[in-house]
Amino acid sequence: MRRFLLKPWLLLGLIVSLGTASSCSKDGDGVLLFSVEDDIALGQKVAAETDSTFRAKGQLLEPGSNPTAYAALGRIVTRVLDSGKLQYRNEFPWDVKIIRDDQVQNAFATPGGHIYVYSGLIKYLDNETELAGVLGHEIAHADRRHTSRQLQSQYGISVLLSLLLGENENTLVDVAASLGQLKFSRDYETEADSYSVEYLNGTNYYACDGAAGFFIKAEKEGQAATPEFLSTHPNPGSRIQNIQTKAEQMGCRNRTANSNDFNTLKNAL
Ligand SMILES: [Zn+2]
Repeated sequence: MRRFLLKPWLLLGLIVSLGTASSCSKDGDGVLLFSVEDDIALGQKVAAETDSTFRAKGQLLEPGSNPTAYAALGRIVTRVLDSGKLQYRNEFPWDVKIIRDDQVQNAFATPGGHIYVYSGLIKYLDNETELAGVLGHEIAHADRRHTSRQLQSQYGISVLLSLLLGENENTLVDVAASLGQLKFSRDYETEADSYSVEYLNGTNYYACDGAAGFFIKAEKEGQAATPEFLSTHPNPGSRIQNIQTKAEQMGCRNRTANSNDFNTLKNAL
């Protein structure tokens, strides 16, 4: 209790979060009390924790150890980031790291714009547009601050703020470990899909329904080899349709970008 008395804002945060908890019935739909600066600070801590977890397992592909892969991936990500459609393009660091695990077809983002992509996802996909689409989806979760809202409703604002103070180390480990498995509400998934289309449209390069390519491929291959991204992002049928309908409306479905950077990346892994 002494800690709380010394930090009245923490106590206030707790009261506010308790006060709103009962009125927020919809999943993750509560008022976001976490500031953008908090997103950035928490993102930094969670990313450092994620890095060290995968580094300890020998699975973090260090940027310096494979500059070819990182340069190619960086070019793809930058096209999406520079679409002119992000809200926090200049506020968040937007770094991207590769986790070396060919068995996992997944990608995730921390709050505040640190992106992680598994080698298994890169190897699973067929072309650069699909990868840009999936990355766009993850970028949207961070840029639209879905991850922060989800974490706030799961852990409460006071716990998140205590992480920023370097307290609750175990919870930080827990948060970092859970990001790849975080289940967003259907509304957030739909919104991230929709922003993926807008980002890809803004590249003036990729066909903007790239994210649908992933789901179509996964659906074709059936249940036998369900990629992890699909288990955390269910309901492919209507998602494919929603993405394609929006892409059709925006008139950006029929571009044919080459896959030079994607092939360089894939071959370098
Ligand atoms: Zn998602």
